[in-house]
Amino acid sequence: MTDQQLDAVERGFATRAIHVGQAPDPVTGDVIPPIHLSTTYAQDGVGRLRAGYDYSRSGNPTRDRLQEALASLEGATHAFSFASGLAAEDALLRSVLHPGERIVLGGDAYGGTFRLIDRVLRPWGVEPTPVDLTDADAAAAHIRDIRPRVVWAETPSNPLLGIVDIARIADVAHEVGALLVVDNTFATPYAQQPLAWGADVVLHSTTKYLGGHSDVVGGAVITSDDAIAEQVGFMQNAAGAVSSPFDAWLTHRGLKTLALRVRQHSASAQTIAEHLVGHPAIARVHYPGLASHPGHAIAARQQRVFGGMLSVELAGGEAAAQAFVGRTALFTLAESLGGVESLIELPAAMTHASVQGTALQVPAALVRISVGLEEVDDLIADLDQVLDWIDA
Ligand SMILES: *Cc1c(COP(=O)(O)O)cnc(C)c1O
Repeated sequence: MTDQQLDAVERGFATRAIHVGQAPDPVTGDVIPPIHLSTTYAQDGVGRLRAGYDYSRSGNPTRDRLQEALASLEGATHAFSFASGLAAEDALLRSVLHPGERIVLGGDAYGGTFRLIDRVLRPWGVEPTPVDLTDADAAAAHIRDIRPRVVWAETPSNPLLGIVDIARIADVAHEVGALLVVDNTFATPYAQQPLAWGADVVLHSTTKYLGGHSDVVGGAVITSDDAIAEQVGFMQNAAGAVSSPFDAWLTHRGLKTLALRVRQHSASAQTIAEHLVGHPAIARVHYPGLASHPGHAIAARQQRVFGGMLSVELAGGEAAAQAFVGRTALFTLAESLGGVESLIELPAAMTHASVQGTALQVPAALVRISVGLEEVDDLIADLDQVLDWIDA
């Protein structure tokens, strides 16, 4: 199927994930387009480019295919692929912010996002203000007061799985002339389409669910705003933190199974969350698919599925949390998330160590779990053997 045929009809998500940007090679018929490693391109005369390519930082066919697919999956017109999620954030923020402007970000944003703004951008005159965006009324008052240039929301958030009402925060951001950026890494475009709810830009760490196999680091900025796209496209080339052709190819391969994977990640996470509620070793389960979660109703409206991430607070405090993460057999103690294999970690000491002592500090007894695609009964048995031991 050519991209024109795909465009002609609004195809479903999984169909686009498999076909957009993947038309068979016109010369050889390769069903999987090759990886274009060349750094430079022959010109048919000075400035007469054969297919628009002159130098691989500026443009590369493998990266272009990925960008086309990413834009399609978020229902957007533009996507830019970067060497990491943080490289994507950096390029975006330096494109849209000027010295003296402010950025409001959710109270438990990814630690690296806060560090980038607080330690790298602040010396250039950009002021970060953490605000709890899960409380829309209070957040609206703060945003009207602060009048930021950018509102940065993560939903579900990392690591507390807080849910932000994207449409409501988009309205108040636009009222004060701010852009709403949604970090959609946890949800994935399969589960949630922030642009459709009014966000201006979607940010991804493609390292997580989009790549999906814990073997490639990457990031993306996705938007339907032509002016933002122009600025980010310029920055992608001017600052040069592009994804390599092989990284772009691996990420694109991951996209093809995204729908299937996220459905199963979510189903297994729901089963595990329900199982852990009420276990005597567990004080609290944070999962938006539980009716008891404060953001459940919004997530049910805004998301197609609730996702594969959950976190729990241990009744026995930090010592119990340490014991829990150190004794599972199938859940590997490691940072990152979104791969086929289950992972477990202690945010306060690992992924969120950089925000301890700030307003974004996370509870010491909190354990974050990335539910993988193993048999869910095996995963539950693995968690139970440790929790029963902790509780004994
Ligand atoms: C991992 C992550 C990032 C950063 O992405 P990298 O690919 O590690 O640079 C940003 N936001 C969220 C929610 C993440 O989980």
